[in-house]
Amino acid sequence: MKKLIVANWKMNPDAPGRAVVLANKIEQSLARVRNIEVVIAPPFPFLLPIAAVVKRAKLGAQNVFWEDAGAYTGEVSWHQLKHIKINYVIIGHSERKLFLGETDEMIHNKVHILLENGMTPILCVGERERMDDDIPEIVGTQIKAALKGIKKTFIKKLVIAYEPIWAISTMPDARPDTPASAFRAVVYIRKIMSELYDRSVGEEVRIIYGGSVKAKNIRAFLEEGRMQGALVGGASLDASEFAEIVTCASRVGM
Ligand code: PEP
Repeated sequence: MKKLIVANWKMNPDAPGRAVVLANKIEQSLARVRNIEVVIAPPFPFLLPIAAVVKRAKLGAQNVFWEDAGAYTGEVSWHQLKHIKINYVIIGHSERKLFLGETDEMIHNKVHILLENGMTPILCVGERERMDDDIPEIVGTQIKAALKGIKKTFIKKLVIAYEPIWAISTMPDARPDTPASAFRAVVYIRKIMSELYDRSVGEEVRIIYGGSVKAKNIRAFLEEGRMQGALVGGASLDASEFAEIVTCASRVGM
């Protein structure tokens, strides 16, 4: 399976012109790389203008609502996203939990509606405080809550993003996780998925890493950490740094 690099632009940049320029630069840099899947997740208002300029990069959303349609002011449905060919949606990001009170139940509902409709949730899980060695149980608890009752047939599309919150670049004293600890997270998440479903799901579920990813550390997360890609925040707003991340990732395993 191809490695997956996701650009989470959060609430940036401030104007559509700048968003299109950034997307264009990323798109152009992809002409030189193979065997990698790149998803750009800009703010909602920029999805359509960017869709008009990218071919190789796919587009993703940063949120979705859990009902099909109806009186839900301010929300966006899976259907609306699918109509404009958006299949990837970041779900359960720690910033939504922190600033918008997103709960495990809401996250579950969102993951469910996406999987049921053949879309790909990029489910973010991760602990708030740095722990010494073992991956904290909260990561397993978050996965179990998000996937509760969801049938195995739907799980194929799921991507799990392990994002230790303390490693996200905007957190105070942020620093990237170590590849060794990221590897422990991979082993732990595969074990949880095997318990929840079966061994094949445990072995096959796509797991990516997020938290201060840069061109200088991506290789270690993919090789030593055995991650299958990355969710990139801050560095995805710098086209040349992001292009370098993608290039480094494309060279791993060659
Ligand atoms: C994120 O917030 O999803 C993230 C990974 O951010 P950063 O790359 O800036 O740490």
